[in-house]
Amino acid sequence: MVSSKRYAAWDLFRLIAAFLLVCGIAKLTGLSKPLISNSILHYLAVSLICFITAWIIVSLWAKVKPPTPSPDSRAWVEIDLSALQHNAKVLQEFLPEQCDLMAVVKSNAYGHGDIAVSKALNSVGIHAFAVATLAEGIHLRKNGIKGTILILGYTNPKDASCLVRYRLTQTIIDYTYAEALNESGKKISVHVKLDTGMHRLGIDSFNISEIERIYECKNLMFEGIFSHLSASDSLTEEDVIYTKLQIERFFETTSYLQDKGYPTGKLHIQASYGILNYPDLPCDYARAGIALYGVLSSNEMVRSEVDLQPVLSVKARVAMVKQIAPGESVSYGRAFTTIATMKIAVVTIGYADGIQRNLFKKDSYVLIHSKKAPIIGRICMDQLMIDVTDIEAVTPNDVVTLIGQDGDEQIRCEDFAEQCGTITNEILNRLGSRLNYKII
Ligand SMILES: *Cc1c(COP(=O)(O)O)cnc(C)c1O
Repeated sequence: MVSSKRYAAWDLFRLIAAFLLVCGIAKLTGLSKPLISNSILHYLAVSLICFITAWIIVSLWAKVKPPTPSPDSRAWVEIDLSALQHNAKVLQEFLPEQCDLMAVVKSNAYGHGDIAVSKALNSVGIHAFAVATLAEGIHLRKNGIKGTILILGYTNPKDASCLVRYRLTQTIIDYTYAEALNESGKKISVHVKLDTGMHRLGIDSFNISEIERIYECKNLMFEGIFSHLSASDSLTEEDVIYTKLQIERFFETTSYLQDKGYPTGKLHIQASYGILNYPDLPCDYARAGIALYGVLSSNEMVRSEVDLQPVLSVKARVAMVKQIAPGESVSYGRAFTTIATMKIAVVTIGYADGIQRNLFKKDSYVLIHSKKAPIIGRICMDQLMIDVTDIEAVTPNDVVTLIGQDGDEQIRCEDFAEQCGTITNEILNRLGSRLNYKII
């Protein structure tokens, strides 16, 4: 944005300068007749000078441009866009014919980079996206993302004009909210959210009279209706019964509304686990988040086998290698002490980059030279230490893999999350903004 303004200013400056220069030359050489009065010659002379100055500026800029660090110098995430496109394809193929994949790209596409991800999905025919916030939706539109963009979360009604300006679709969370948006007087695209048992956002699916009142709002354009499942990841008998109950409540209400002629639009209720455990619902959209990125939330079983490929890896470099004598401690708090002489490597990534401090456990490791190297000592803000005693020829600048594949070895995001006592969604969302992106 800033740079395009700067370019526009430069262009204007050069145009005026070229015009003045042509006038000056005309005056000095006494050629004002052909150069100024003849509009074609005048136009050509100004254009030529514009072109020459542009060429000089561009070539000078290339020479003086300050050097920038390459993305894989210190610590970075590697994004495999072909794996992402593969996942979108297999998920879409897995869904029933009439159901389109809606890509959930909230929170910077779960740390994968929302623009690169959405563009790659646009190019393979995905034209429905979901975000959590207004700002996320605006960011996608400003970067040329095409199709429906549904905001799943709350948007302040005072920002209604932004919804219109950026052609965003807003979730209607209850009647009060519908009324507030309607009063803005602007035509706003919306999906109505029903609460079928998650008890987060949404209007109670049994509250028919209030749902019907929502459809009386004249300024709202009703394009969809949806709900969210709270336990679709669990296959325990109780949770399966609960999920089926939620699904039943959803279709009961939507059928009622359709029978009464309300424009319900597109129906959707499944997120990733809904797709994998309850694939055959008669929906128009399925909202895939975590599965699209080729991971599941945890190592729990799912009913269906879909060939998903991880999209993201986390990598860093070896800064230095050193020998430590027996009985010496490594890192803060002296939580690790060497028994024998040990060769350790200092790695250029820490908890400020999103490598959770509690990953330091007895059996945590990273990959280097396609081998496992245990993490030793507490993880620091910007660095961590690993044991490379049994790994030959480790040298500064070697690549260290924290999540991802190295030769035959792999650290899955699910295993990394398990070590940290959380789910992959949180790990991915917490990757630090200091990490660079390397798209492969
Ligand atoms: C985040 C979110 C999703 C995506 O969930 P995943 O489990 O990552 O697929 C879908 N629907 C809603 C309402 C969400 O908030």
